[in-house]
Amino acid sequence: MSAIDLYARKTAGFDERLAHAVEVLRGAAAEHLGRIVQATSLGAEDMVITDLIARHELPIALGTLETGMLHEQTVTLIDRIEDRYGRPVEVYKPIAESVVHFVRTNGEKAMYESIDLRKACCGIRKLEPLSRMLAGRAAWVTGLRREQSNNRGVVGYSETDDHGRAKINPLADWTWNDVWHYIAANDVPYNRLHDEFMPSIGCAPCTRAIAVGEDFRAGRWWWEDEKAKECGLHATNENAVSMIGAKA
Ligand code: SF4
Repeated sequence: MSAIDLYARKTAGFDERLAHAVEVLRGAAAEHLGRIVQATSLGAEDMVITDLIARHELPIALGTLETGMLHEQTVTLIDRIEDRYGRPVEVYKPIAESVVHFVRTNGEKAMYESIDLRKACCGIRKLEPLSRMLAGRAAWVTGLRREQSNNRGVVGYSETDDHGRAKINPLADWTWNDVWHYIAANDVPYNRLHDEFMPSIGCAPCTRAIAVGEDFRAGRWWWEDEKAKECGLHATNENAVSMIGAKA
């Protein structure tokens, strides 16, 4: 059974949530003209947003982090986006020397050894490249939804990150059913790993399938406590966001 079979469902209020998401994106594009990027993880929510940006011809750049540890099914989406929408995707990779030094010092499986080492790996492979993606930009668009986890229960449509940039979350109030209804209705390309019970997909060593009834993000860093389960990209002022600054 595909993710579409399992999750796509039009529920009350979908049309209003869709219209609002477009309004949020359109407003952000106008306000931050030429200085806004969608930081796409290539996950289901981000594919919806990319489709909305392209469909409504919004002047929002597309950027992604190629950590060097992604599944092949994830990486191939970059070409699929460019083919489908005719828009370039900026690809940000970690600094090779930093990766080599980290792996040589801490081993290939360091992320499983401690939260500090896992966050250090995320720092090198995600946060530093993200800082380059966002350099000179005033705003970024993410696929965060309140429903994704308890940690994300207060996500707003527009927030300010620790560097004073606007962080736009047009799908903040969308449900998982909304996301898949949109994908099905608009034939949006998506990561086939979603068909294998992986709702949240990150790097291969840090992603597993979830079981029925588990939290959306239960398959990410599953060996850690719930509160530690962010890579720093979307941490809040109270926890580890300053990692972005530390690695910039
Ligand atoms: S998600 Fe895992 S492999 Fe990817 S950067 Fe973070 S710790 Fe490293």
